[in-house]
Amino acid sequence: MNEPVACIRCGRKAAFSEEGLADARAKGIRDGVPFPPPIPAGVCVRCAFKDPELQEPLRQWMKDTMSWGDQRIAEFLQSARDIAAKPLDAIDRFIDSLR
Ligand SMILES: [Zn+2]
Repeated sequence: MNEPVACIRCGRKAAFSEEGLADARAKGIRDGVPFPPPIPAGVCVRCAFKDPELQEPLRQWMKDTMSWGDQRIAEFLQSARDIAAKPLDAIDRFIDSLR
């Protein structure tokens, strides 16, 4: 099953399952975006950003992703004000849009 699973840290159903993560890694790039983000299975993006050990690779991934120049990324960047106001929600929506 590649369905998102409940996050082991917050219980929100938005984390990769082991299978989903393996599947995403096998595909590598999805819709022109380096995929998946560097987060372990069972941890949602929101919690990953709160984890000092996961934060840095995740930020790097966001940077790489943004340099891709994909239309979707452009749209994502357009909502930069959104990101400044509610960074995690914006990231969640972005990740959801990749699924
Ligand atoms: Zn979580």
